[in-house]
Order: sequence, then C-alpha cells, then structure tokens
Amino acid sequence: MAYKISDDCIACGACADACPVGCISEADGKYVIDADQCVDCGSCAGVCPVEAPKAE
Ligand code: SF4
Ligand code: SF4
Repeated sequence: MAYKISDDCIACGACADACPVGCISEADGKYVIDADQCVDCGSCAGVCPVEAPKAE
C-alpha cells in the first residue's frame, strides 16, 4: 500500500515537508510519491489543501 498524488496537485510542497520518510519530490511541476518508500502514514493527505494524495 502507498499513497498516490492525483492530477489535482497544485505543487505547493506542503506534503513533501510533512512526509516523515522524505519520499515526496517534485517532478515536472507536480509532486510525486515514491511508493517503495511510503509508509502509508497519511500525513501528506492531512496537509494537502486540495486533497490530492489518495490512499491506493
Ligand atoms: Fe510520506 Fe506518509 Fe504520505 Fe507516504 S503517506 S508519502 S510516508 S507522508
Ligand atoms: Fe500537491 Fe497537495 Fe502536495 Fe501541495 S500538498 S504539493 S497540492 S499533493
């Protein structure tokens, strides 16, 4: 299981700062989650203003 960021992402960067394992990075004007490192904590979803990170 891992979270995935949808196309709703407005690239604010809040999730990357909140992720405890640092597995969120910017790529082509959007933020993406490295599913292999994600520990499914939900912190990214909690801080996102547009609810872009979703549990897969
Ligand atoms: Fe990082 Fe947690 Fe979001 Fe996974 S669910 S990307 S570990 S903040
Ligand atoms: Fe995108 Fe939400 Fe992360 Fe901001 S907090 S970069 S809008 S996924």
